Amino acid sequence: MSIDTSEEGNDDSGFGSCCEELQEVMSGEDFDPLITLAEDGILYMSVGLIDGDSDDPGMVDHPVFFCPFCGTQLQTAEEVQAKSDELGDEE
Ligand SMILES: [Zn+2]
Repeated sequence: MSIDTSEEGNDDSGFGSCCEELQEVMSGEDFDPLITLAEDGILYMSVGLIDGDSDDPGMVDHPVFFCPFCGTQLQTAEEVQAKSDELGDEE
């Protein structure tokens, strides 16, 4: 059982290739990972919950620049900026 989320040879993101720990988190088969690859190609880590007056608490995400397990640099601030600019995300 596998979900094919990437074309063969398309190693554009490459997230999860640095170590088994991150790979396991990225696959997220046994749990809901707090580290997720957004559709804009940016790897985000959930760092907290928004606990305000709202009935709809949200997750606070922050781009992951370095693997939290092995310390490999996964993406740079420039890459994240460029990708988020591409998407033209407006809120
Ligand atoms: Zn790693």
